Amino acid sequence: MGLRPVYGHAALLDRLGATLASGRFPQATLFVGPAGVGKQRLALWVAQGLLCENGPGTPCGNCQGCRQVLSLSHPDLHWFVPLSGLKATEPDKQVEEVQELLGEVMAARRENPLWEEPDGMARHPLASVRLLQRLIALRPFQGDRRAIILGRAERLVVQEASQEAANALLKVLEEPPPGTYLILTAREPHALLPTIRSRLVPLRVLGVGDAAVRRFLERELDPPLAKEELERRVLLAEGSIGRAIWAGGISGSPAQAAAEFLAAVKGGPERWAAAALGQPPWAARGQFSEMLDALLLRLREGLVQRAGRDPESLPRLLEAIRLVEQIRADAQGNVNPQLGFAVLASGLSALR
Ligand SMILES: [Zn+2]
Repeated sequence: MGLRPVYGHAALLDRLGATLASGRFPQATLFVGPAGVGKQRLALWVAQGLLCENGPGTPCGNCQGCRQVLSLSHPDLHWFVPLSGLKATEPDKQVEEVQELLGEVMAARRENPLWEEPDGMARHPLASVRLLQRLIALRPFQGDRRAIILGRAERLVVQEASQEAANALLKVLEEPPPGTYLILTAREPHALLPTIRSRLVPLRVLGVGDAAVRRFLERELDPPLAKEELERRVLLAEGSIGRAIWAGGISGSPAQAAAEFLAAVKGGPERWAAAALGQPPWAARGQFSEMLDALLLRLREGLVQRAGRDPESLPRLLEAIRLVEQIRADAQGNVNPQLGFAVLASGLSALR
């Protein structure tokens, strides 16, 4: 079972196809846009356009290169995703482990290409950057081009800790070898170190229309959704096909964190104050934003469910959504999660 086709984004695909065909596609790009909007899927489309035997350009879809990309088995397509559960301590062993774990993720995505979000603790470890360096030192295996995708780049551990990894990555981004194309994706450009960001050509990815989300849900989900559930997901998606998929079975850690957060708010000031102090500080800002995303999704679902049944609760829910959005915007800047948690809990409990 291969990657699902790209739905929507027609104008963007035209533009990307033309840039690829002109031979001037930048070697280091950053795809930026909201969660689940299709940044990594579009990066894979570009990879296909680069590795297409009739390319570079809009991928033909029929050649061996295209088919290998669509089945995630092209030797010159490297897709780095955040990982968790690394055990090795010795650097060379860590690189091997990263290679194995990435292999497992890719095998799972070949089986089911509608991937879930990585868990809140998953990171691109230093060993992933080392693996990237090793790959780049080799020539492409099959042709003269290769594509390297680094999804959720804000999860790079170099962000916080390792100068060595940051320097290695910077060097790669500054001067990629000929024929090597790196595409990073992130929800927020400011979540990346300025030194990294400044070496990337940014490309903004916007949401798709409701019609494209609906078409995707109608054609690509197995078993198909009941009509009512399908419309609920279209509404929740807000132009993001990923959100429409994830709205089906949100059980990951951000959703659980959101449920725990709401329970703490209900428990009263002592309970939420203690929970706020228990928040991990700076390093966990990404997890805090993800909890807020999950919280927004819950509140919006509440809004949809109550629209007909309980109209009096709507102003409070809307105000709650506004508050969460405000804190979420602050969390992209420099707000400490502990403080953000406390401010939001206090604001939400005042609404009850
Ligand atoms: Zn092709």
